[in-house]
Amino acid sequence: MQTPEPPPARRSHLVGGMDVGGSKIETCLFDEQFRPLERRRVETACATYEELLDCIVGEVHWLDSHAGGAVDLGIGLPGLVDHATGRALTSNLPATGRPLREDLVAKLGRSVAMANDCKCFALSEANGGAGEGAEITLGLILGTGVGGGVTRRGRLVLGHNDLPGELGHLGIPGRLVAQWALPMLLCGCGRVGCYETLVSGPGLVRLAGRHGGAGRAPSDIARLARSGDTAMAATMREWLMLLAELIHTAQCTIDMQCVVLGGGLSRIPDVAQMLAETYRACRIAGRETRFAVARFGDASGTRGAAMLLTHS
Ligand SMILES: [Zn+2]
Repeated sequence: MQTPEPPPARRSHLVGGMDVGGSKIETCLFDEQFRPLERRRVETACATYEELLDCIVGEVHWLDSHAGGAVDLGIGLPGLVDHATGRALTSNLPATGRPLREDLVAKLGRSVAMANDCKCFALSEANGGAGEGAEITLGLILGTGVGGGVTRRGRLVLGHNDLPGELGHLGIPGRLVAQWALPMLLCGCGRVGCYETLVSGPGLVRLAGRHGGAGRAPSDIARLARSGDTAMAATMREWLMLLAELIHTAQCTIDMQCVVLGGGLSRIPDVAQMLAETYRACRIAGRETRFAVARFGDASGTRGAAMLLTHS
């Protein structure tokens, strides 16, 4: 085995954030205020664990070359990362069960912070983003899947298993299933009837299919609903009520002041306002919850990853 070269001299005020996804790796160099200086995306062309390690190391060298020295590094990735052992559990990368963090530390000769990508999103938005100032913030990503993270006073709440905010894998209440005769679908997590199966992007498409809009993209569903299409309006109403019920469960457990929405479905026009109104009608009581769309959008992945070393 090759001995890693010692890292070049450190420029401590710069920090690197990396968002490792199943199809691309985005890497960004930030200044001390977490403003982006250099950013690039490469494809995740990694069939094996060793290739994945090499790919990440290559991106770190790119960061170092632009920083003029070894940068501190945070990495976000899909799936679960055991914060005690650094072992990964991810269906999108060839790293399940591997000590990814420790192997990168050994190859890079520096500390590496690592967390679930939804946690990075939540951390970024709670610090200078749309959730700034709230004591408890729920960052909720509505995309291909549904995941999230919880922050308290700008720090991630990691709990026992890094699970706070993984709301997509709660079960849809029987009350709504009975009311709309909803299908009980197998979720990617192996359970049946998770919210993710009907409130994610593919979930919204499924809901539309039940109203005669099979194959319509989420953006079309939302646009048609706004223009008065009654079937797509009914679809959006179901989707918003399912989401509001999900928010209600979160409110009863973590009682957040603010919900920040991210992911592809957060680009639906006025989605935060529509969800706030739907939630207001179904909540028990109490003070208003603020709903907002992410300030940093897709860039929150790298930005939050870069914050892991200092804000966790
Ligand atoms: Zn699930």
